[in-house]
Amino acid sequence: MSESGTQTLVAPVLMSTDRCDRCGAQAYVLAELPNGSALLFCGHHWNAHEEALRPKVVKVVDELHRLSEKP
Ligand SMILES: [Zn+2]
Repeated sequence: MSESGTQTLVAPVLMSTDRCDRCGAQAYVLAELPNGSALLFCGHHWNAHEEALRPKVVKVVDELHRLSEKP
């Protein structure tokens, strides 16, 4: 298995059961805080909060690309 760049994630982290903390839509972004807790966001709310959250979180799992994938 080969990996490119800094992206080592191969399998989706977020499941269809993961829901946006703000609106309950399916979550595509997970933002991990320094205290270990994680926030889940749909695309809409991630876009709305990304700028404010980026400096505060230690890790971001962004699977928004899956929104445009067709099964
Ligand atoms: Zn949302």
